[in-house]
Amino acid sequence: MLDLLVPSWSDAAGRHGFRPPDAAKGPSPALRAQQMDGTPPAEQVPPAQPPQELLRAQQLGLGLGVQPLNEPLRAQQVHGVAVIEVSPGAQSPVGEADALVSATVGLAVGIATADCVPILLDAPGVVAAVHAGWRGSLEGVVLATLRHLATRHGVAPAEVRVALGPSIDGCCFEIEREIAARFAVRWGSRVWRLWRERPAGKGTLDLRGFNALVLLEAGVGENAIERVGPCTFCGPGPWASYRREGPDCGRQLAWVAPGPRP
Ligand SMILES: [Zn+2]
Repeated sequence: MLDLLVPSWSDAAGRHGFRPPDAAKGPSPALRAQQMDGTPPAEQVPPAQPPQELLRAQQLGLGLGVQPLNEPLRAQQVHGVAVIEVSPGAQSPVGEADALVSATVGLAVGIATADCVPILLDAPGVVAAVHAGWRGSLEGVVLATLRHLATRHGVAPAEVRVALGPSIDGCCFEIEREIAARFAVRWGSRVWRLWRERPAGKGTLDLRGFNALVLLEAGVGENAIERVGPCTFCGPGPWASYRREGPDCGRQLAWVAPGPRP
């Protein structure tokens, strides 16, 4: 399974990833065949002639993720701020929510996106996957998730590390100025630092930057917040973009599972 991994989360290899739309449908027949005998595909590739697919994946920074114990549990995503904590035995969809939390070792949760910001949170013994489009970001879905980790699991923001996955960035995410103004009313005038004015009452907003700002101000360490992957609209790679391709663009899946408590 080719997933984009968070470079600094090498200790969490095999329990997180940003899975491109094609991979989300399952590995290609070629890769599946290579994986049949259990040898990691990268080691089977003759150095002189790596398959184009794998070569391209490596150029794009995609690593070889490991399938989680379960197909990641999903929710009905509604651009809200509800947080659902999953339990073993749960079935997808687990309910209407844009943030899923798991505190069961190996039990993966995932959210699907195509331009919206996929956010993975990893803390000792507990993880979360968050879907943050502009509506969820405005309403503070990532802050609601941090609060859940604190109140239910006693996890301080300083113990959490966060990865903001491939999403439409400040280069391309054009919205009405009126929407940015709603962010500024709710979160303060510092939001305008993430805004680039365009003609006709429009501009672009850096949504990943906004969520990073919220996390930082809530107490997550600056070095614990990482942007992973390109802009889905203009960047390279296999990432789906709703704005570029329309509703049939496919979805990437951001997933994470808890490791054992240290
Ligand atoms: Zn862009």
